[in-house]
Amino acid sequence: METQQTTFDFENTYVKLPARFHARVNPTPVAAPRLIKVNEELARFLGLDPAALSTEEGVQVLAGNRIAAGSEPLALAYAGHQFGHFVPQLGDGRANLLGELRGEDGHLYDVQLKGSGPTPFSRRGDGRAALGPVLREYILSEAMHALGVPTTRALAAVETGERVVRERYLPGGVFTRVAASHLRVGTFQYFAALEDKEGLRTLANYAIAQHYPEVAKEAKPYRALLDGVIGRQARLIAQWMSLGFIHGVMNTDNSSISGETIDYGPCAFMEAFDPNQVFSSIDARGRYAYNNQPHAAHWNLTRLAEALLPLLTEEEGSEEAGVLAAQEALAVFATEFEAARDAGLQSKLGLFTEQEGDAALAQDLLDRMAANNADFTLTFRRLCEAAASPAGDSEVRLLFADPASFDVWASAWHKRLDRESGSAAERAAAMRRVNPIFIPRNHLVEAVIQAAMERQDFRPFEELLDATSRPYEDRPELVRFTVPARPEEQVQQTFCGT
Ligand code: AMP
Ligand code: MG
Repeated sequence: METQQTTFDFENTYVKLPARFHARVNPTPVAAPRLIKVNEELARFLGLDPAALSTEEGVQVLAGNRIAAGSEPLALAYAGHQFGHFVPQLGDGRANLLGELRGEDGHLYDVQLKGSGPTPFSRRGDGRAALGPVLREYILSEAMHALGVPTTRALAAVETGERVVRERYLPGGVFTRVAASHLRVGTFQYFAALEDKEGLRTLANYAIAQHYPEVAKEAKPYRALLDGVIGRQARLIAQWMSLGFIHGVMNTDNSSISGETIDYGPCAFMEAFDPNQVFSSIDARGRYAYNNQPHAAHWNLTRLAEALLPLLTEEEGSEEAGVLAAQEALAVFATEFEAARDAGLQSKLGLFTEQEGDAALAQDLLDRMAANNADFTLTFRRLCEAAASPAGDSEVRLLFADPASFDVWASAWHKRLDRESGSAAERAAAMRRVNPIFIPRNHLVEAVIQAAMERQDFRPFEELLDATSRPYEDRPELVRFTVPARPEEQVQQTFCGT
């Protein structure tokens, strides 16, 4: 049989930006690449042939051993605040942008290898990724996509046949990530810190062309860009929180200009609801705790506004007016976040008309869930049945340490539901479309990683991917994926050891 040539119709735009935006660097080949997974649906969306990607030659490309025709690999330059400390030069220390492909939707997408070797930005790292974090990012990002949350995606995962040195020797992997772009708040900070106003302008114009083309014709496009990023971030964080998701490392270099979830490190979906929950092992002070995420996002966006100040000043005519414009833009974050959060919670509760007291009713439930260690995902999913018939309450109340606490809330909720129009069945169906049953629970992700590392067994990986690919659909045969961790299975922290 003839091996098919993997063809990528790259249309590269980032490489055409001035040289100081990036470093041209090829991936470093690995010893013995082996394909773990190609995302066939995403491959087709990008105009790629999944079968060709899976051939030996395709795998060589996905491992960084071979440069596909049209690929112009580079590492992006950026800066960032890490846990509040500014680092003027971070950059892709272990990633290569291979090029950009046009998706079926007409937009350009970055195709990036992560774990593909050192770059001029590597500082002290080895440029590699361990297999565990590769599988984690694959599962988490695809689950987020299936849940309807803007996110980078997973095109492929390969094993390298090499070991990486972390706390111990671990098998290595290369992850192929697809993103609307890899522009971060930290990319703007990079040029701002260098006082490179022309670089900043070029970057802002590029971001507008790629992600906010509608603002190009506005009288004040840079203010409109800032407004746009603030709006998308506000809605993104609200969506995370409506699913119990904790990003874990919301540094400014992990905060995307396109409004996608990016850089899945020590992230997780919560089980027992605790608004102060933290996952990252290095986040001792709870900077990126569940409930702090809107504050963290606002803090990051404030850094973006600061970086944009030279352009805002020019647009407004004076620095004073530029600062005022930035402050006005930032003030809107809270309103947009709260509106998105409230709308999200109300639809999770089956409240499709807006009535007084709805926000308080939702907050009361969250307070009771927190006080009673109720599983976040199961509580909302079982409410769907309870909305169809009060008999369903019996399954929800079991999730509360003190079931009577749920009963008090449920009676207020049922009274409120009586004031909704539409049938109970319709309401339950609509609720099932926003309250998932399948999320990548942390202990399941850990089990996937253990099986892969210890037994070269990738079946659990495939099974969890399958379960989380249709998160809103009941599939009774997969019930084991819906159950919270037993105490001995609980993962309290996820590690940055990526
Ligand atoms: P992250 O925590 O993954 O967002 O990474 C923060 C910065 O550290 C980025 O500039 C990465 O490129 C860099 N980095 C993380 N891990 C490594 C590694 N193993 N080798 C080189 N650079 C790394
Ligand atoms: Mg990062």
